Amino acid sequence: FARTSGESFVICNEEHKNSQEKYLSLMSDLREELSQGHVKFAFQPKLNLQTGDVFGAEALIRWISPKHGFVPPDEFITMAEQTGDIKHLTSWALGQIIEQVGKWKKEFPEFLVAVNLSTRDLQNENLPDLLRMITREFEVAPERICLEVTESAVMGDMKRALKILNELADMGFYLSIDDYGTGYSSLAYIKKLPVHELKIDKAFVLNLATSPEDQILVQSTIDLAHNLGMKVTAEGVEDEQSLALLKQYGCDCAQGYFISRPVFVSEFEDFCRD
Ligand code: C2E
Ligand code: CA
Ligand code: CA
Ligand code: CA
Repeated sequence: FARTSGESFVICNEEHKNSQEKYLSLMSDLREELSQGHVKFAFQPKLNLQTGDVFGAEALIRWISPKHGFVPPDEFITMAEQTGDIKHLTSWALGQIIEQVGKWKKEFPEFLVAVNLSTRDLQNENLPDLLRMITREFEVAPERICLEVTESAVMGDMKRALKILNELADMGFYLSIDDYGTGYSSLAYIKKLPVHELKIDKAFVLNLATSPEDQILVQSTIDLAHNLGMKVTAEGVEDEQSLALLKQYGCDCAQGYFISRPVFVSEFEDFCRD
């Protein structure tokens, strides 16, 4: 094992070796196909529940590989984190997405576009400088970019993550806690972070219309977040009734298949123009 980049190499059985080799070869395909234009971003509209307007989107990576077919982002992002490829992937992604926001500046000047950061990105002290460079290059105000970080990413090395998040917040970036409710954090913990928004994980939203437990959880999370001065987005809204409930609870924003699936740029623009 010459190329062990991880910390998890205590047990070194055949199965592990095979999966490690599979990772590395998939990552090298990713690098190659990325340079050939097979990796793109889809944009999922975010709806302001008070006004009913689309005010932005979440950018979601799509790798449609000639060799492997559609590879789910959850899968290759996790691998990229383990092999260390995530660093390059994230800086490339930030460049692509922020360039797109720059192109939208004229037609959609108020757009807020969300980018997903991974756990490792929050340990990278160069991230603020990188973001400063990219936003300057494409003349995009940091206020137009939302950075989504998961609660587990923040809880890892809290001190380092906090330093980076504070720097990003000071620069004007909009910060959001993604997948809220799936980790071990509490709002008491999160309120120490300079975040503007909580995103309630889709696990609590998908069955909102029929689950009294989810209704109570979602409603009280919204109230608590508001009392702590945060906005709330619900993801995974798949039906009209859930959307109506969220509106009734005073939830600020919603995202989900009921509003729109993540779609590529031109389809997204059509959606916003309608
Ligand atoms: P996430 O950030 O929690 O993104 C939400 C996921 O829910 C997306 O899956 C989205 O397509 C899906 N989704 C949206 N609306 C609905 C709905 O109404 N119902 C259901 N069932 N699902 C819905 P996707 O695109 O497969 O992404 C999966 C995960 O991969 C993301 O979870 C995020 O953690 C990661 N990811 C995606 N793009 C990027 C990226 O550019 N960078 C990084 N670091 N991670 C990314
Ligand atoms: Ca997200
Ligand atoms: Ca999420
Ligand atoms: Ca997720």
